[in-house]
Amino acid sequence: MSNAIQAVRGMNDILPEEAERWEGLEDALRSWLRGYGYRNIRTPILEQTGLFRRAIGEATDIVEREMYSFVDELNGEQLTLRPEATASTVRAAVQHSLLYSGPQRYYYFGPMFRHERPQKGRFRQFHQVGAEALGFPGPDVDAEMLLMCARLWNDLGLEGLRLELNSLGSAEERAIYRGVLVDYLKAREGELDQDSLRRMHTNPLRVLDSKNPVMAGVIADAPQMLDHLGRESLAHFEGVQRILKDSGIAYRINPRLVRGLDYYNLTVFEWVTDKLGAQGTVCAGGRYDGLFEQIGGKRQPACGWAMGIERLLSLLEADVMSPQAPDVYLVNQGEEAARLAHRVAESLRDYGFSVVHHCGGGSFKSQMKRADASGAAVAVIVGDEEARAGEASIKPLREAVDQARVRLDDLPEAVADILYSEEREV
Ligand code: ATP
Ligand code: MG
Repeated sequence: MSNAIQAVRGMNDILPEEAERWEGLEDALRSWLRGYGYRNIRTPILEQTGLFRRAIGEATDIVEREMYSFVDELNGEQLTLRPEATASTVRAAVQHSLLYSGPQRYYYFGPMFRHERPQKGRFRQFHQVGAEALGFPGPDVDAEMLLMCARLWNDLGLEGLRLELNSLGSAEERAIYRGVLVDYLKAREGELDQDSLRRMHTNPLRVLDSKNPVMAGVIADAPQMLDHLGRESLAHFEGVQRILKDSGIAYRINPRLVRGLDYYNLTVFEWVTDKLGAQGTVCAGGRYDGLFEQIGGKRQPACGWAMGIERLLSLLEADVMSPQAPDVYLVNQGEEAARLAHRVAESLRDYGFSVVHHCGGGSFKSQMKRADASGAAVAVIVGDEEARAGEASIKPLREAVDQARVRLDDLPEAVADILYSEEREV
């Protein structure tokens, strides 16, 4: 075993038991997203490195030290495994002129890659579901994105998710604020930790995001972006808040919320929980009106968010999204029976039942054990004797009822009787 090859550190196999919960959640997410008019978009996992450098920004954690970048040895191209999917979605929108016919709502789902220190809730391959509302200028769509998240928490039975909100203003306002902030940080340079000293020059807003307790005092006294918003930015921020209030969505304004990607402006938000330790942000997003232009397209307003699927799943109770057992486990014994069993299985599937067909032989007893372990509601048994008579035996596995013989023609109805009588009891 010591010789056996292992998965890459921080990249997890999602084994069937767990993967079934993923599928359940994915189904719930898709129907929720469609309920708001979002349509699926699938972009490649590899992109030109330049896309992320331009979109996310040079002086960010992601671009500075988290990207899986490499040179394609075959043609010398600089490529990166996507660390997030907003840049790719906007690239696709520009490349295919997707906003030609007006604004679009898109969602994506899939693996992202960041070279971080693996820990609880933080992986090197992780998964996000995300939504992007492209071409929408107003605070209405920002607010709608928050309403839709609130509905999801409710649908999934999640409690304790809090909404934190801030505005980063326009690029011009932020440039002025940046100057004010740098002056302030310089005046208190002696109190800054190493990271903040460096960020003060490269990305001073990120100093406000420091988790180091040593920095708490400096951060608490720092000038705030919110005090540097112009009239239009304020109106946008108030517009978002008005809709939240109308809809009864609680939120807290967090002036320190700056987000780790450079492309945001105006509204930024995070949904956070205390239940996941240090990795408490489940969903994060905001407005990015400059991004289209930044990657070479025509200016378009837009807003989006991304959610960490692993974090979402670890918040869900273990029994939510529990695996779906098959309806029928098909036991077969004898040569003739084994051949007939395939037709029996297909005929049951014709009726819409899910069927696990026992393959690989084995004693009747061991097959029945498998049937029980599969979680199926019913075992259908075909032996040579049954095969010759054109019949099958049927045995409910979840209630103390004897097995009965039925004609193959009557089998689907007999299975339905058992399945539906069970449903009535639940
Ligand atoms: P953090 O501050 O936790 O690193 P971030 O600002 O880097 O988060 P975003 O880029 O906004 O995160 O990603 C959105 C969401 O994706 C996060 O809120 C989180 O739920 C999830 N996420 C981000 N990075 C990881 C990771 N390495 N492992 C698992 N989930 C992640
Ligand atoms: Mg991060």
